[in-house]
Amino acid sequence: MSTFGKQSVYNTNRKVIFDLIRKNAPILRTEIKKISNIRLATITEITKKLLDEGLIVEVSKSDNNTHKTKLLALNSSQFYAMSADIQAKRVLILLTDTAFNIIYQIEKSIKKTDTPNQIIDMMFEGIDEIFNLFKEKHIIGIGISFTGMIDREKCVILASSQLQGWVNIPIKEIVQSRYQLPVFIDDSTPLNLLAERLDEDIAKCNDIIYVQIGAGIGTAIMSDGRFVRGHLGLAGELGHSVVSQGGKPCPCGNYGCLRTIATSEEIVNRVIESLESGTYSIIYEMVDGDLSKVDIHSILSAAEQNDKIALNITDEISHYLGIALANCINILNPKMLIFGGEMFERSDYMLEPIQHVIAKNILPQFAPEIVYRKAHFAEIGGAIGAAALVFEEYFLQIV
Ligand SMILES: [Zn+2]
Repeated sequence: MSTFGKQSVYNTNRKVIFDLIRKNAPILRTEIKKISNIRLATITEITKKLLDEGLIVEVSKSDNNTHKTKLLALNSSQFYAMSADIQAKRVLILLTDTAFNIIYQIEKSIKKTDTPNQIIDMMFEGIDEIFNLFKEKHIIGIGISFTGMIDREKCVILASSQLQGWVNIPIKEIVQSRYQLPVFIDDSTPLNLLAERLDEDIAKCNDIIYVQIGAGIGTAIMSDGRFVRGHLGLAGELGHSVVSQGGKPCPCGNYGCLRTIATSEEIVNRVIESLESGTYSIIYEMVDGDLSKVDIHSILSAAEQNDKIALNITDEISHYLGIALANCINILNPKMLIFGGEMFERSDYMLEPIQHVIAKNILPQFAPEIVYRKAHFAEIGGAIGAAALVFEEYFLQIV
């Protein structure tokens, strides 16, 4: 084999070994051999180098105090990620370690009238505060989660249907010029799926649809272990599938899109209209007669208590969401469907009726196979996913 060929095999083995240590720590060298089929001598040579470079550490495990075993783990004290999740109502900034423990978090509220510059300044304030508090920590990069359309190649935010003025914002350039650190950005839906995949069972599953329903409706699609991004990188816009011919206008220019019916804002507005028309509902009591306090959580809680207004609307919404998701399943044949976003954060109420509609409308062969999961990470999924993106990209570059 040529020198170049040998180097290439060495580099591939190094990446495989480092990745196994990172994701399965603490791990024995013999376990690495078993999983990777790499020779033990090569594993010993490569892990010695990784130990010398300070990327991994040896940890001892005692068996009845008689025998000490040396296991390998990532040198977690060496690496921290900063991440920010920009959503319709708030920006959340996290500092996490490689095990995704939250070292520090800052949340700043966003008003509808805030401009992109004002929101970016809020994010900078939070990031600055964390940098000042944790000067001694080695922060390797900044990950940004944004809910909207992103040109991932150019790292430019193209549009947002939830925040005003976010058109052609070169977010990576803006953040990188201030902090001189690697900056990574992605849409919040795939980042939420990345966060869910920190769970071992979900990481093992390669065909997944993650659906996020809240202020917007989006899906992240994973097929064969890879994200399906589409030609323009904008795949997964479930919110713009037309479900009601001649329905309400959508910000995309079309009519009757799913997002004109089933976002939390649309649901809240419809319930308020019913309440204003004088129909009795326990939601009145739940918000002390202040209709501005009605939110998706109070509506779902009322549905759980058999409130008629809440039930009418949740039945209808389950129908539309179930049909749209059944269509996705029939096209993509996923193994797992994960429900995330505001709609499922505090209540499981919508899970059963949506799954019922899905089951009725997917191919009979698919129904017994599909696994339904509720997202583990609620509000912090985007920021955790952005931290995971920082580590993935960073380790890909240095190892
Ligand atoms: Zn639309």
